[in-house]
Amino acid sequence: MTIDLHTHSRVSDGTASPGDLVRAAADAGLRAVALTDHDTTSGWSEAADAAAEAGIALVRGIEISTRHRGHGVHLLAYLTDPDHGGLQAELDRVVAGRDDRVPAMLERLRGLGVPATEEALAEVAGDSVVTGRPHVADLLVHLGVVPDRDAAFADYLADGGPAFVDRYAPRLPDAIALVRAAGGVPVIAHPWGRGSAAVLDADALTRLMDDGLAGLEVDHLDHGAREREELRAIADRLGLLVTGSSDHHGTGKVGHDLGCETTAPAVLRAIVETAHAQGSPTTLVGDLAGVA
Ligand code: AMP
Ligand code: ZN
Ligand code: FE
Ligand code: FE
Repeated sequence: MTIDLHTHSRVSDGTASPGDLVRAAADAGLRAVALTDHDTTSGWSEAADAAAEAGIALVRGIEISTRHRGHGVHLLAYLTDPDHGGLQAELDRVVAGRDDRVPAMLERLRGLGVPATEEALAEVAGDSVVTGRPHVADLLVHLGVVPDRDAAFADYLADGGPAFVDRYAPRLPDAIALVRAAGGVPVIAHPWGRGSAAVLDADALTRLMDDGLAGLEVDHLDHGAREREELRAIADRLGLLVTGSSDHHGTGKVGHDLGCETTAPAVLRAIVETAHAQGSPTTLVGDLAGVA
């Protein structure tokens, strides 16, 4: 019963099309997979068609870029209504902010002597509708400036790095409330990954319960054994769902193979039932009985 609740297609910064991603998940033996591209639902319909055909359950999700106490925090939103005006307007704002910052990052790179043009980036980014730093990282690899995405972040693109440019993001509590208003289930992605433990300590997580936080992605490769143990204890105490997922990005992120981290069937059932109880028109594609 392998369930993986966090993956990316090339609609954002993964490398497979939504359909190919879902087929790869089925081939890898997963029973259920969530497509959670950054800040967009654009891949949902292609993924749903592929899931129905491949006989794998699909959770339609989004990984929303938010901000909390000056830090970027990723919020997984499962089974939201894609026609909820408030949520869609917020996603549009994030994507517009992403589009605006790309030329600024390329300009910074040119200032550093890297011949980074918009044309070259467009070639690397392909048909992605949500451009991000990983695409700029791919361009740096393509230009032979760095060997891989990780080096591109370390040398140029990490927060505060020489080519880093900030962009718009909604406040985390507001985003959590908006996901609930849109019928969805908000789960904080990799809460203690990449140094965000300080902004999301037990007190902060407790306060986010008032906004409607539903779960924590505890089992993620960014977390070590101790962090998982502590996060699980906090989730238990607060009555939060605990998920686990690969955060697969295709060939764009090494080691995050589909199904390398998984979520318990009872948790998937709770997510599906919560969205249903909140009146979301978005349901699981496929049969919950066969999965959870
Ligand atoms: P963006 O949303 O465009 O600001 O880019 C954020 C994405 O870049 C995240 O989803 C990660 O996949 C990736 N990322 C962020 N920091 C790093 C890092 N230090 N090394 C490698 N990838 C990173
Ligand atoms: Zn990503
Ligand atoms: Fe993330
Ligand atoms: Fe992700």
